[in-house]
Amino acid sequence: APSRTRGPIETLLDEVWREVSANDEGTIATYIPELAKADPATCGISLATLDGQVYDAGVLVPFTIQSVSKPYVYALALADRGQEAVLEKVGVEPTGDPFNSISLDDRSSRAFNPMVNAGAIVTSTLVSGQTRAEQFERIHSGLSAFAGHELAIDEDVFHSERTTGDRNRAIAYLMRSAGLLDEDVDEQVEGYFRQCAVLVTARDLAVMAATLANSGINPVTGEQVVPRDVVASVLTVMATCGMYDYAGEWLYRVGIPAKSGVSGGVSAALPGQLGLGLHSPLLDSNGNSVRGVVAAELLSKRLGMHLLLPS
Ligand code: GLN
Repeated sequence: APSRTRGPIETLLDEVWREVSANDEGTIATYIPELAKADPATCGISLATLDGQVYDAGVLVPFTIQSVSKPYVYALALADRGQEAVLEKVGVEPTGDPFNSISLDDRSSRAFNPMVNAGAIVTSTLVSGQTRAEQFERIHSGLSAFAGHELAIDEDVFHSERTTGDRNRAIAYLMRSAGLLDEDVDEQVEGYFRQCAVLVTARDLAVMAATLANSGINPVTGEQVVPRDVVASVLTVMATCGMYDYAGEWLYRVGIPAKSGVSGGVSAALPGQLGLGLHSPLLDSNGNSVRGVVAAELLSKRLGMHLLLPS
């Protein structure tokens, strides 16, 4: 095979990959038993530019998207229902609580924001579709359009989470008590579990983020996935609530709206510039990928990517 020359971006990604790969701090999430099978050594870094180029370093193994699905499904809900209808049920205030806390914003009878489970479960029921099956089809095809190809679903992770997902059921019942979900609570939570079990790679997360960064147009396929006007709303909640209780320090250090998930994925979108996809399953005490956080900070510093840095 012809040897591929690595250009300057790939050389930088390789360098960052080497630096972070040496770090084996952190632990793999095990509360969904199937996730415990992940290889702790895995680390993938991808960068997608708005002209449709994608650069990778490391290993691009598929993993379940988990909470990284939240901003993308939020984008679909905003596209399908409009901002005001979504805001009636899901607010945009950060919480100091864990992502899976059984909580409701009592002052407004809404879920706090779409990046915590309460808000994400409600959001997943707001996308268009006459039945729950049609709504899941909308989520599956929408996430696939963000990534630029049809994404598979990991049935083993789905069943594993369904078997152990009582905390999310408790959240969903609380949401129903506030009038935010319909009768069929269990089916609605299953849609959310299935959404979390969609399989992606670091490359997919980079292209998905680049689609937001590119005003809702996938830079690889050219498809307008969501209208331009929902992008600022989505990036706002990613910036304020996307990285669990590290959201403030992440914005300070890295300065790129992002969302992480328990399988070790991070998807970060720098508006008008690029998308980053990171994957490594070892998590820090905040629940973010250890290598993903360090890699993003190194890249942001070396490329001068902080959103609030005057150009
Ligand atoms: N499916 C997971 C859950 O709801 C997603 C959580 C996450 O990635 N933080 O518990």
